[in-house]
Amino acid sequence: MKAKQVPHPVKPICANCKKRASDYPKLTFKSCIKCKDTSTSVMYCSRECQVSDWKYGDPPHKAVCGKPRPRSAALLKQIALLEKHPSVDYFLMRPEPLPEVGVTFGAVDPAVGP
Ligand SMILES: [Zn+2]
Ligand SMILES: [Zn+2]
Repeated sequence: MKAKQVPHPVKPICANCKKRASDYPKLTFKSCIKCKDTSTSVMYCSRECQVSDWKYGDPPHKAVCGKPRPRSAALLKQIALLEKHPSVDYFLMRPEPLPEVGVTFGAVDPAVGP
């Protein structure tokens, strides 16, 4: 069972070049000041990386800066499925064409469907 969510890494990673702060102790990682207080908070190893990600990132940071993190397609699908099946607590996503598997927490045996 891998229901547990992996916690966010504590060490900063540059959102542009993916350098890890732990691998580059001499670099000072800075977060984007504008989105410091949102869940979008990102870190950069240098001003160059910040400027580059602002314009050419995926998505460009200027499109998401200061806004809450957009919901992923998988999360949106999960929400839509749960709305359709209120008795199910969670859907396990499987690669296409396998159907999603509904899981109910708290039951003795996990309810597997459909
Ligand atoms: Zn960088
Ligand atoms: Zn920002």
